[in-house]
Amino acid sequence: MDSASTAIRKSYRALPTENNIDSSFVKDPDKIKSLILKDNAYHVPQTVRGTPPYWKKCMYKHCRSKTFGIFTFFLTLSDLKWADTLDAILRQQGRQLDNEQIENLSWEEKTLLRSNPVTTARPFDHRLNCFFNDILFGSAQPLGKITHYSYRIEFHQRGSPHAHCVLWVENAPKATDSNEEIADFIDEYITCKIPSQEDEPDLHNFETTVQKHHHTYTCWKKSTICRFHFPKLPSPYTLIACALEYDDLVFKAATLETAADILTNIHYTLQDDKDNKFESLDELLKKTQMTLKQYVYDLSITKRGKTVVLQRQIDEIWINPYNPSLLLA
Ligand SMILES: [Zn+2]
Repeated sequence: MDSASTAIRKSYRALPTENNIDSSFVKDPDKIKSLILKDNAYHVPQTVRGTPPYWKKCMYKHCRSKTFGIFTFFLTLSDLKWADTLDAILRQQGRQLDNEQIENLSWEEKTLLRSNPVTTARPFDHRLNCFFNDILFGSAQPLGKITHYSYRIEFHQRGSPHAHCVLWVENAPKATDSNEEIADFIDEYITCKIPSQEDEPDLHNFETTVQKHHHTYTCWKKSTICRFHFPKLPSPYTLIACALEYDDLVFKAATLETAADILTNIHYTLQDDKDNKFESLDELLKKTQMTLKQYVYDLSITKRGKTVVLQRQIDEIWINPYNPSLLLA
């Protein structure tokens, strides 16, 4: 059974012994067998596509950092309108709507995509292949020369597919390179800048619609702070926040706690600012009685590991990072 995993049902009623499940329980073949006989657990072969064990195997196989190193970019590709696909499915059902009517269909009506998964999946697959072949691997190399890639396609509840991709890029900086080098590389390809409506109307339109975060119920699963960390904190420049290193552990803990309190306070100030009344980072810092130097220091320290803080103006705190060429593609 090395090529299979055992899944246990997560149901309190179905599994009265749930509270007693620990490592010794799951290592006991008799107890697992008893669960399987009562249909409270089942074996899942790793070879069945789409199952959690299958994806776990893929994750180890494709994203193994030992072979390729840490991937350079993670991107999600989706179609938010599905106008052509909805039009095709509607015609299959003997209905004909114009573009405006299709665009104005409600979320429930767009679940129509589920009624014909083949018609939905085929154009998406074609566009995904074109995106890889003509754009990512095209001569313009908008993300640099890609050496390896892996992607996983998932389906939203309404039936629309989207792809999560990881890419490895030649000569990308490594985690051991200087923070300045890493930040320069990120700034070359990724931004959350809102371009001017006059100079770049298409990009401005995409950016303020599809790239803008809107909270949904999934944002608040575990905390009063959005689990995607929106609104993001503004930063005068891109920096790599690093683990704070001090021999004095008491002083280190106090410094980290103070920084976390200050940043949380600023996050709540921005979250409560429904009218977007702050016009600049300076204004925000004045309101929260912070100096720029202290704020940037607090942004640049972490408990452990490194994290990227992207350059972000105060009006860009709801924007998901993007690559301008890919967004226009
Ligand atoms: Zn959110």
